[in-house]
Amino acid sequence: MSDPRLSAGRPPPKPAPGLYFVATPIGAARDITLRALDLLATADVLAAEDTRTLRHLMEIHGIPLGDRPLVAYHDHNGEQARPRLLAALAEGRSVAYSSEAGTPLVADPGFQLGRAAIAAGHPVHTAPGPSAAIAALTVSGLPSDRFLFAGFPPQTGEARRKFLAGIARSDATVILYESPKRVRKLLDELPQHTGDERQIVICRELTKRFEEVLRGAVAEVRARIGDQDPKGEIVVLIDRAPDRSASAEDMETALRQALRDHRVKEAAALVAEALGLPRREVYQRALQLVGED
Ligand code: SAM
Repeated sequence: MSDPRLSAGRPPPKPAPGLYFVATPIGAARDITLRALDLLATADVLAAEDTRTLRHLMEIHGIPLGDRPLVAYHDHNGEQARPRLLAALAEGRSVAYSSEAGTPLVADPGFQLGRAAIAAGHPVHTAPGPSAAIAALTVSGLPSDRFLFAGFPPQTGEARRKFLAGIARSDATVILYESPKRVRKLLDELPQHTGDERQIVICRELTKRFEEVLRGAVAEVRARIGDQDPKGEIVVLIDRAPDRSASAEDMETALRQALRDHRVKEAAALVAEALGLPRREVYQRALQLVGED
């Protein structure tokens, strides 16, 4: 390794003034990076979404807080805490911010802080590291060349319906965070938008003791989950929408042909698969065609 900062045994250099977003583990404590440890050991001011979690992580890695300030900065106190952190930056100090787990700003606080620091002309840096979204994508087996991180779905109503309809049309692999209490509801609702056949992946408790990955068609994965809410932290990934280039006319022609040799359900399944269309939509059209004849 030619970078002297990576040499073991040397005390880490003091960071230059500025704001540092420091990623922390999403489970296994040893997933923290060496640079994150350096920053936590040497930044003038530490800030955390959950100060107890950060203290605990620092204890695990033998990093003393000393007499440095550790400021709570979370969704509910941003307005009050931001000026204090901005004042430290204005005094030329280094400020390291960590959210409760993973990468700050990824479904976590930090956005307003980063914007305010940029607006005030302070340097903003990252110490990149774990994020559940990327961790889940890497083990999912779904296409990783293009993905859409959509965070937590709205919990109810029209906002939720619109959100699900939108992500179902995505031409990129969709990555969602969802509460374990709402995963079964999500899988019950998804087929209305994706059809039963769309591939999905449920990643539970990544990097932790009860890590589990379920892969399969949405209806199949829903059946495997059964009647009990799963436990722990969960990422849901949804395969991109099939290529919808087949027209209504293409579907009708293919259906008329398939209906000569097959029952309605079979014909619809064959055409849906061949043209990459949702089974439910093709089945409805097949029923109409049979009714018309
Ligand atoms: N900032 C974090 C990141 O970079 O992933 C995400 C914070 S968000 C408040 C917490 C959500 O992330 C959880 O509800 C879950 O959806 C997901 N998550 C976090 N850790 C996870 C893990 N170990 N396994 C699966 N999902 C996880």
